[in-house]
Amino acid sequence: MVDLQTIVDEIAAEMAQATERGAVASYIPDLARIDPAHFGIAVIGHDGVSYAAGDADTAFSIQSVSKVFSLTMTLGAVGDALWRRVGREPSGSAFNSIVQLETEQGIPRNPFINAGAIVMCDILLGRYEPREAIAQFLRFVRALAGDDGIVIDHKVAGGEQETGFRNVALANYMRAFGNIQHAVDKVLGIYFHQCALAMNCRQLALAGRFLMNGGRNPATCRSVVSPQRARRILSLMMTCGHYDGSGEFAFRVGLPGKSGVGGGILAIVPGIASIAVWSPGLNERGNSQLGTLALERLVQRTGWSVFEPV
Ligand code: GLU
Repeated sequence: MVDLQTIVDEIAAEMAQATERGAVASYIPDLARIDPAHFGIAVIGHDGVSYAAGDADTAFSIQSVSKVFSLTMTLGAVGDALWRRVGREPSGSAFNSIVQLETEQGIPRNPFINAGAIVMCDILLGRYEPREAIAQFLRFVRALAGDDGIVIDHKVAGGEQETGFRNVALANYMRAFGNIQHAVDKVLGIYFHQCALAMNCRQLALAGRFLMNGGRNPATCRSVVSPQRARRILSLMMTCGHYDGSGEFAFRVGLPGKSGVGGGILAIVPGIASIAVWSPGLNERGNSQLGTLALERLVQRTGWSVFEPV
């Protein structure tokens, strides 16, 4: 039996010694100021026991990791109709790329690149007023994590509203194809607030539990999504969860995962664990440098993989 606490302690100690930490995202003002020395890890086992080390209780901006929760919420709202407006293929392009939108008639490649997440916000606007959409999203994530202390960092959202020119371009471009149907500023208001969710590793791993458990939150025994939908969300995390570095992440880690430019990664071992890591320095593809390395070491030491029996 592996001693998970020893493993996560060892990994945190190794990450503290690392010299190649990557570079923090500088295009969002508040993220540019984060100390790259942070590292946190939290693992929640199927039995609910948690193992954490490093800065596991320090909140960070989850950014694109939020797209896992917005996908879950949007599928809950409109079901498979989502796939008429968003694809399910890896993009092979950067998270904020506009190029494929032209050849694909304004249909984003998948829900985990910015364009796809922006379309999901537009879909939610068909159901809720902007403030209500943000409030519903926050309520949803709090319920998944079982923690009402989770908040949106409005300063981060405001900074993105002032500097997110590429996202404005993406939304307008898709509007020209009819794949954005509401006012662009309202759609992006939801998107920026969703990305600005502040969570620590422990909360993030808790929020991911339903995905390790066939769609059911093991703490409440309530079904969040059907087993089939959980499998599909995990498939998308595996194939599209790390932008144009998704193949590399699957190769090195072998688990479905979703990263964000805040340096967080949520990774799932079906039936076994929900894992969150955070280190703000990013590699050249915009994924956490040490977060990826830590997950690579975790799977080496535990034998966890979706590609072999554990
Ligand atoms: N809010 C960020 C943006 O739209 C999210 C990017 C990310 O984490 O991939 O640029």
